[in-house]
Amino acid sequence: MISIKSNREIALMEEAGRIVALAHKAVKEAIAPGVTTAELDEVAEKVILAHGATPSFKGYNGFPGSICASINNVVIHGIPNKKTKLKNGDIISIDIGACYKGYHGDSAMTHGVGEVSEQRKSLMEITKNALFKGLEFAKPLNRLSDISHAIEAYVLEHGCSVVKDFTGHGVGRALHEDPMIPNYGEAGHGPVLREGMTLAIEPMVNRGKSGVRILADDWTTVTCDGSDSAHFEHSIVITKDGYKILTIEGGNADVKK
Ligand code: MG
Ligand code: MG
Repeated sequence: MISIKSNREIALMEEAGRIVALAHKAVKEAIAPGVTTAELDEVAEKVILAHGATPSFKGYNGFPGSICASINNVVIHGIPNKKTKLKNGDIISIDIGACYKGYHGDSAMTHGVGEVSEQRKSLMEITKNALFKGLEFAKPLNRLSDISHAIEAYVLEHGCSVVKDFTGHGVGRALHEDPMIPNYGEAGHGPVLREGMTLAIEPMVNRGKSGVRILADDWTTVTCDGSDSAHFEHSIVITKDGYKILTIEGGNADVKK
């Protein structure tokens, strides 16, 4: 069942989202060649705890980190560790969740490390744009798969593929709530969107084919063909006439579309 949040709940989710955005900002500033993913994890966790929230991912189904740090061909769920150092030219997807007074915010973005190739830059751009293409359809009376379809259509148009084994999701009291939100499919299907639904929309886009596999650590998810992958995610609330992003620092005026 898809829950409709009250204004009080949405306000708490906005605060959780703001904390996630602050953690992202701190991690972005810390990203540089030679830095380990464990150091980035520490940076994010400090920000989350300093704002009276807890990292949503830490301990979630046994996940050891506060963030997911996924480099190049790693799609999602990269485990932060002291051995993995960022290198010039890498791209790194950072996924962060924070829980504030019982409500979660969840957001991901991909950054370049030092000087990044045009091809990697364009993959990041395509993935970010795909998120906002999907969000154009996030409004009352649209169907859920209108978002999914817009994301996939944009990604295919730009010669990349969407990951099909993982999806976006409802978010709120739980990190993952109903509904599942695939990044592919025909338009016009699934639940009708209603004011007060809170959703995490998150295209995962591969430069090559869409297949992914999970490594022996049971988390790290990589592209089957070794191609690069990028990931952008925002938690949103459906409003009276559209949507509002919850996982940004200071209101929707700051959002670059
Ligand atoms: Mg996430
Ligand atoms: Mg998510």
